[in-house]
Amino acid sequence: MSQKKLVLALDQGTTSSRAILFDTDGATVAIAQREFTQIFPAPGLVEHDPLEIWESQKATAIEVLQSASVTADKIAAIGITNQRETVVAWNRKTGIPIGNAIVWQDRRTAPFCLELRNTHEDLIRTTTGLECDAYFSASKIRWILSNIEAATEMADDGELLFGTIDSWLVWNLTEGKLHITDDSNASRTMLFNIHSREWDNDLLELFQVPRSALPNVAASSEVYGEVSAIPELSGIPIAGIAGDQQAALFGQQCFSEGDSKNTYGTGCFTLQNTGTNAPKSNHRLLTTIAWRLGDKTTFALEGSVFIGGAVIQWLRDSLGIISSADEVEELALSVSENGGVFFVPAFAGLGTPYWDQDARGTIVGLTRGTGRAHIARAALESIAFQTAELIEAMANDSGKVLSELRVDGGATKNKTLLQFQADLLGIPVSVAHTPETTALGAAYLAGLATGVWESTESLAKHRSESARFEPTMKRKSAEDLLARWREAVGRARG
Ligand code: ADP
Repeated sequence: MSQKKLVLALDQGTTSSRAILFDTDGATVAIAQREFTQIFPAPGLVEHDPLEIWESQKATAIEVLQSASVTADKIAAIGITNQRETVVAWNRKTGIPIGNAIVWQDRRTAPFCLELRNTHEDLIRTTTGLECDAYFSASKIRWILSNIEAATEMADDGELLFGTIDSWLVWNLTEGKLHITDDSNASRTMLFNIHSREWDNDLLELFQVPRSALPNVAASSEVYGEVSAIPELSGIPIAGIAGDQQAALFGQQCFSEGDSKNTYGTGCFTLQNTGTNAPKSNHRLLTTIAWRLGDKTTFALEGSVFIGGAVIQWLRDSLGIISSADEVEELALSVSENGGVFFVPAFAGLGTPYWDQDARGTIVGLTRGTGRAHIARAALESIAFQTAELIEAMANDSGKVLSELRVDGGATKNKTLLQFQADLLGIPVSVAHTPETTALGAAYLAGLATGVWESTESLAKHRSESARFEPTMKRKSAEDLLARWREAVGRARG
């Protein structure tokens, strides 16, 4: 084992930058966090200032070392995990961004992508594993090239660089020595051929993106270089990179084919490890690269629920029937069942497996006896119903029946939700002991590349559960509930 005892994860999220120190048992030693500005120039547009992202990430890295009273020589490696798909463009010579980062949530290129769907949906689907959508990086890069003055000229002069947030951070950490990304992030750009593992010529042509402006694609776990830009971190190897959802899959130790995790946040993200296969989904799940270790690429199926924990925020902020998210559990438990009320929170359409932009929020089964507790219960149950449908779609695509679901995210403190989830799925739901599974995944990737840990097998002893929920409901009852949920979805659809 390496003499250096700690691994530092940089977790660059959509609303905050975090730095977390882990010890060799995968236990959290210290955390620092800074929020940064969300810029909304117009409805549907979301931007971040790349310099503020870098400054906030740098500050948290320095802060976490200080708070744990450790120096750089005690840190074996740095792993990076990041909000995915968000694009930064900057000048190769000066390192100065040519504008704000366009964030994954930004919808400015939605009409363009809708048009492309008519002509290139199949190409995009088979090459990248993605739906042709504005979420992914390609159309954002195209937008920058078409709309930011000087971008094309800089590109022609070979001075323009593009990158997702991982690329931007590594570039800055190494003072411009490295312009790289990893396979998991590259697979979210909609420019990367996930089968041949290279920037795809047809897609580069379609989006008119110069290859010279794109980063080199490295493995998710290898020593890429070392930090030079921050004196307090100088010399630490940068040795792991993965997009946030893939990092969470790794942090949950979903290393075997079929292993799956769900993150219950504002929305929900389910990923299933599909091993060395990149299955084509028949249920409009995304096929994505989970990570690459050496020459071995591991793939995943991914699905998302748009409104997960957000439905609880809606109960609090719009309906006002609770004053904090934590209150929902007690209110939901004040009735013994949902009273026939089903709540489909299709506020922004429906995600996997429906992909119905026109669906809208619907509550069915209201009677004179319905009270706020039933509504709260139905809202909470909707998170589990949506997840159950997603996982069913995944099982149909991959042919793998899950033996357990590993979970993380803010809403997993709700025991009623997780028990109901286990009941609906008919399998145990396992809550990881560490809530920091995303950062832990990045730390694992970096530690594996630097000898802190020998192999993924040696990590197994780290994973402990803070809770486990076994299914207790009869299958017939669960199936009846799911059938009634589907009827409610039918009413919510466009
Ligand atoms: P994100 O990373 O997407 O910002 P988090 O993982 O921090 O989200 O989780 C926040 C979400 O969890 C919110 O949507 C909130 O409504 C939900 N949440 C928080 N506490 C509870 C609870 N006790 N029961 C159900 N949902 C909750």
